[in-house]
Amino acid sequence: MKMIQDFNFKGIKAIVRVDFNVPLDKKTFTVTDDTRIRGALPTINKIINDGGCCILMSHLGRPEGRQEKYSLKPVLPVLEKLLGKKVLFADDCLGESAVKMSAALKPGEVLLLENVRFYPEEEGKPVLPDTATDEEKKAAKAELKAKQKELAKKLATYAEIYVNDAFGTAHRAHGTTAVIADYFPKDKIMFGFLINSELAAMDKVLHNPQRPFTAIMGGAKVSDKILLIENLLNRVDNIIIGGGMTYTFVKAMGGKIGNSLCEGDKLELAMNLINKAKEKGVKLILPVDSLNGDKFDNEANTGITAVDAVPDGWMGLDIAEKSIKLFDEVINNSKTILWNGPMGVFEMEKFSKGTTSLARSIAAATSKGAYSLIGGGDSVAAINKFGLADKVSYVSTGGGAMLEYMEGKKLPGITAIRGE
Ligand code: AMP
Repeated sequence: MKMIQDFNFKGIKAIVRVDFNVPLDKKTFTVTDDTRIRGALPTINKIINDGGCCILMSHLGRPEGRQEKYSLKPVLPVLEKLLGKKVLFADDCLGESAVKMSAALKPGEVLLLENVRFYPEEEGKPVLPDTATDEEKKAAKAELKAKQKELAKKLATYAEIYVNDAFGTAHRAHGTTAVIADYFPKDKIMFGFLINSELAAMDKVLHNPQRPFTAIMGGAKVSDKILLIENLLNRVDNIIIGGGMTYTFVKAMGGKIGNSLCEGDKLELAMNLINKAKEKGVKLILPVDSLNGDKFDNEANTGITAVDAVPDGWMGLDIAEKSIKLFDEVINNSKTILWNGPMGVFEMEKFSKGTTSLARSIAAATSKGAYSLIGGGDSVAAINKFGLADKVSYVSTGGGAMLEYMEGKKLPGITAIRGE
């Protein structure tokens, strides 16, 4: 596999799939968070500094056909400012202008193509009325898949090299994230720097962890995290459970959880995970106490009880002091830490302490030499909110993609290049 750092792009035209799916202000349509744009800079700079040129393609949002509110145009001024140079823009990724502008691109130049999802074949998922029959669905899908290949094939003619640096969509088998790689020779496809660092961080934790290795799982539902927890049970020394999923485990063990979040159909599964952890010698650590509210509201009345004694009419919305201390001790003694999902309803000030304290414990362990990887939308939002992102080893940019990789699944965007 070709590695971007060893490749010289002098005189080469590269087409790069980036993830510019950035949040936009609803009124002004300006970019409100440029993290993803900044994430692509090392790859773009490498190409143009070598004396190559690059064509950037990305999606933004979930447009249904061409919808101006999903245009990538607002990205242009931000990218130009960050790169310190003019960036060209083609207002249709497959149109005549895109073809001509790509062909005319000179060394050092950057061209951004309009949202690739303006073409439904990029995703390859037909939008059909509920009344469509299975036959109709199958036929529409086959037709769109054929068009997806056409889209990928045409985009591939724009450049000599394909670089995938869009980790956030690596779990999707889309035209520009995976299919396009088929239209380049194997030695003309590679990952960009962002995907390389994401893979290095995840592989370090999955395959080469320093021990003790502690995984911390939080968030709302256990059902979203089953595969991840199962895969991790083969790898970790400790698994800390927090957040809403706690109460499904507690109920499964016969505890009282009041009105706390609970997935009644997952009690057996929770028990299975507890038993599997025992069999494998993994310490599964649940909170010991619970900060309860009498309603799901920042203005709720609160009270602390043992985690298995939440009174009727109350719901557990955060971990409390004893759990915070217990988790801190485990994290403090860990050499590898993986965190996914908040410990409570951290969006509400009253129930954010568990998550803030956990983030601080992870930052403190990192400063003592532990390796910490934070992933999954809400834990990343939390670590950013608390201003601790630069105090941990790695913050993943890909929510769904990271979860699937850590579950042990093959991601189409990764396989298309790594070929396994
Ligand atoms: P997830 O997307 O599964 O990681 O879940 C994140 C969401 O879980 C956040 O919006 C939290 O507010 C929510 N959450 C965390 N703890 C609890 C809890 N004890 N009860 C209800 N929701 C919770």
